[in-house]
Amino acid sequence: MNMLVRCINCDEITLKTPFDQCPEYDTSGSFESFNTLEKDDFKDFLQNHHGHRLEDLKILEDSFISEKDYAEPVKTSYFKATNGRESFVVKKFRDKIDEPLKYQLIYGDYSLKCVGIEIQSKEIVNQLNAEFKKYPLHQNRIDAFVNLLQSVVKTTDIKKLERIPEESSNASEIYYKMDDISLAYLLRNCHNIFKGDEYTHIEEFIHRHKEDGVLLIKAIYKIQIIEMVNSRKRAMAAQIHSEKRRVAEKG
Ligand SMILES: [Zn+2]
Repeated sequence: MNMLVRCINCDEITLKTPFDQCPEYDTSGSFESFNTLEKDDFKDFLQNHHGHRLEDLKILEDSFISEKDYAEPVKTSYFKATNGRESFVVKKFRDKIDEPLKYQLIYGDYSLKCVGIEIQSKEIVNQLNAEFKKYPLHQNRIDAFVNLLQSVVKTTDIKKLERIPEESSNASEIYYKMDDISLAYLLRNCHNIFKGDEYTHIEEFIHRHKEDGVLLIKAIYKIQIIEMVNSRKRAMAAQIHSEKRRVAEKG
């Protein structure tokens, strides 16, 4: 298991792990160079914090989160770690591809905030054109269908929707299935756009793609870091405050 080492005096952290336990280092350079680099980093850390109090932090393995694709080499990601008494958020980042990863300790927590809901307009249009090749739909009706779907989705509450369990490649895009009420509303209103056979075909199209296709609703999330003033800093601030008061009272 990966371990972080924290210097309690300085609130700095480093990763204590051989290269082979850490697949994220494989972006560039050879195995050897990165391996040595990381080992040296750890040695440097021990030297820099000689005589300080160190402790191991356990990484919560399921807590990794990032707004970019996992394969993206230059990105910021976050995960949670604990020393058994306190929990921390660790910010993991690298500024340039040839730089080693840096770790920053944050007192607090993170959460995901939904900042937008959208339909996959471009994919829907492409799919309609592909599936209705034989009897192409008029562009006006395609536009009307996309607009209708947009208006249906605008009023849905994402919290009530069923999330598609497939892993999205990053935490900022999560897909949901349309709920039954929205689906019924969509089908009913499609009667205003499509007639006869065309309606039958569009109804089939909707049923084909509602579970796992272009009709899934995409929600955009942002990572929010909730930083807390750590207790030691707070204690120090309180101490300074009371000392100031003592000085003031004396004067
Ligand atoms: Zn230190």
